[in-house]
Amino acid sequence: MESPPSNSTDNRIAVLGAGPMGLAVAYQLVQEGYHPVVFEADDRLGGMTASFDFNGLQIERYYHFHCLSDHGLLQMLDDLGIADRMRWTETRMGYWYQNQLQDWGNPLALLRFRGLSLTAKIRYGLHAFVSTKRTGWQDLDHQDARSWIRRWVGDEAWQAVWRTLFDYKFYHYSDNLSAAWIWSRIHRVGRSRSSLMRECLGYLEGGSETLLQALAAAIRAGGGEIHLNTPVTEVVINDQQLAGVKVASPDGVTPDLQPFTRVISTIPLPYVPKLIPALPDATRAAYASLRNIAVVCVIAKLRQPVSDKFWLNINDPEMDIPGLVEYSNLHPMENHLVYVPFYLPGEHAKFADSDATFINKVRSYLKKINPRLQDNDFIDIRASRYRYAQPICEPGFADRLPPAELPIKGLWVADTSHYYPSDRGISESMEFGRQLARQACHQRD
Ligand SMILES: Cc1cc2nc3c(=O)[nH]c(=O)nc-3n(C[C@H](O)[C@H](O)[C@H](O)COP(=O)(O)OP(=O)(O)OC[C@H]3O[C@@H](n4cnc5c(N)ncnc54)[C@H](O)[C@@H]3O)c2cc1C
Repeated sequence: MESPPSNSTDNRIAVLGAGPMGLAVAYQLVQEGYHPVVFEADDRLGGMTASFDFNGLQIERYYHFHCLSDHGLLQMLDDLGIADRMRWTETRMGYWYQNQLQDWGNPLALLRFRGLSLTAKIRYGLHAFVSTKRTGWQDLDHQDARSWIRRWVGDEAWQAVWRTLFDYKFYHYSDNLSAAWIWSRIHRVGRSRSSLMRECLGYLEGGSETLLQALAAAIRAGGGEIHLNTPVTEVVINDQQLAGVKVASPDGVTPDLQPFTRVISTIPLPYVPKLIPALPDATRAAYASLRNIAVVCVIAKLRQPVSDKFWLNINDPEMDIPGLVEYSNLHPMENHLVYVPFYLPGEHAKFADSDATFINKVRSYLKKINPRLQDNDFIDIRASRYRYAQPICEPGFADRLPPAELPIKGLWVADTSHYYPSDRGISESMEFGRQLARQACHQRD
């Protein structure tokens, strides 16, 4: 390993964002002998993986599960000495279709599924099987996902099984998604099986907070700093040279420049054009043209389960959701816990609807799926929102993304888009963040 410079300014590296990627960057910098200074806008660690107090239960605002193939995460848990906090559960999938709850997610369930012809089932199953076995994605990169899937599964299975999953996540963007990106999602979950019939998914004891706290402790123990409630307002570049960062001060007084010769930003890319105004126009325009899906995620604590499924796909003309996650069927807990994500483009009028609107929908949807549920079975229910929850990856997405290492020396800018075609995920953010940190340490003059 190259030794870090002894000069104290050069040894400090600013890291923007304390989500999984920012913390992985900082963790790796500490391992390499550097001094990361992490700036986080929120009042807590974690970004999309952050927890909140749900009436006495510390739980993530958004559900998280892990797959057997999540190598970046498993490696990090090992390195932090917390691999024993990982738990694996044999989970069940279901499909709510034609007002019935049916099994889903294995060959037998597919054969027994009511509402699809045998030909449609065979075509659907073949596509899922081949996608799971496939390893290369380059020839899918420039294909659109809808045409790719329809070609394989036919119109019947597309309409019955796939269409609402696209329409209720991507709305008007669903016609122009990368087949490589959709394939990587099928591939990741498809490979998390202990056998053809058994799906095996994981969770961390204590949730993502276990990972976040262990990372923060290791960063601080290695001499790094983490500043919460500290949004970076500008990355300053003077005459093509990186000068440092400005952070918002609570008293509103214009803050001084904090000098840094290296800055690694992990905040969502749509914020970057405003954050780094001195970037070349073409680079800023490239970030500004990227589109993201937002999420309003409702979490309900219940006295009774909705079903015995962890993941429930939904195709119901009365429900504007593609599915729901009954988290307590993965991670057993005292009460039953259900997450219902409403993914939608942030500019969609529905995103402006009140939390109460989403919450009321969820109450009625859950009672429709399980008519035994009564109003008094709802112990508590809340909604959380994240504006940049998911990049929209259209065909050829990688070509339009500025590389993480920018032409300004010492500046790296990345978010979950950068590990395309993989979908955003904790494991991927960990692995990518560590790579970024290694590059930053080994950059030469
Ligand atoms: C509903 C939902 C379900 C998910 N389910 C799973 C799952 O089951 N499994 C899985 O592996 N992954 C899942 N994910 C994805 C996972 O949460 C993300 O991949 C991961 O959190 C990305 O981490 P990140 O650090 O790259 O980005 P983020 O988590 O977005 O972190 C970015 C950070 O930057 C901060 N920031 C923004 N602006 C500034 C600024 N100006 N200055 C300083 N800081 C700033 C933000 O506050 C945030 O903390 C899910 C996500 C969502 C929304």
